[in-house]
Amino acid sequence: MKYDFHSHSLVSDGNLSPIELVERAFKNKVEYYAITDHDDFSGFNSAKVVADKLGVKLISGVEISTTWCGKTIHILGYGFNVEDKKFAENLEKMRYSRIERAYRINDVLTSLGFPDTLVGAQKVAKREHPISRTHFARYMIQMGYCRNFAESMNKYLADGKPAAVPHTWAEIPTAISWIHNAGGVAFLAHPLRYKLPEGLDLEDLIAEFIKSGGDGLEVVYASHSPRQIDYLSDLALKNNLAISGGSDFHTDEATMGGVDIGSISQLPKKNTSIFRILGLD
Ligand code: AMP
Ligand code: MN
Ligand code: MN
Ligand code: MN
Repeated sequence: MKYDFHSHSLVSDGNLSPIELVERAFKNKVEYYAITDHDDFSGFNSAKVVADKLGVKLISGVEISTTWCGKTIHILGYGFNVEDKKFAENLEKMRYSRIERAYRINDVLTSLGFPDTLVGAQKVAKREHPISRTHFARYMIQMGYCRNFAESMNKYLADGKPAAVPHTWAEIPTAISWIHNAGGVAFLAHPLRYKLPEGLDLEDLIAEFIKSGGDGLEVVYASHSPRQIDYLSDLALKNNLAISGGSDFHTDEATMGGVDIGSISQLPKKNTSIFRILGLD
């Protein structure tokens, strides 16, 4: 059975609309699907109408940016009530904080010899705000400053690179409480993608996540090898956490890389799955 609990639309830093994502999921024979835009779930309602028509089971989703020990950590929320006004308001405030950050990214890139990248990123996003690092990357590629997404990230925009300006997002317990208060469950996104500070490792992050009430780990992910999936599946079991999986699909543009919706392996059987905790099986 095909599933995918991690995708982005143009509501955040993807290039397809929420409706186009659901149509693509359907074409790829995905049965269970969640759109997880950064700090925003406003794409859900339009997507749900089409999902219902096509028979795709669409679960509400969001990927919240948090800060832990100075590092950005992504928390996925699923199965919450999309009519929860307080949750929507809290996320709106987070998106608002991107405005000032986008100017700072622009300034760093200007100092590196790339002028007017915020205006460029805004053209790419077809809006003034919120702007993500992905929009800056797309503009850098368009201008021929970088050949592809990987290069734009590795040279300039990935965490630790000059244009990844410091920014304080929500705290982990805060983000998890927003999700729980709206009736959802919280998963730690792509646990192997973080470059944690000296002296801290993934087990420390997981301890903080559990202390904050977190429910599960994103064990299956586009870039995870079978060995990494095994490792995370064991870690989830040991810590009494459920498991989920997703492609983190952002775009159908060839220069951007990534895998297609639904192109991920099945969830390991030995764990409690997201299906189980959301009552989907
Ligand atoms: P932002 O929310 O503006 O900080 O942008 C973060 C987004 O940039 C992530 O959600 C990814 O889509 C992309 N991104 C950041 N770092 C990397 C990386 N090292 N490799 C690939 N994509 C990245
Ligand atoms: Mn993204
Ligand atoms: Mn992420
Ligand atoms: Mn993502």
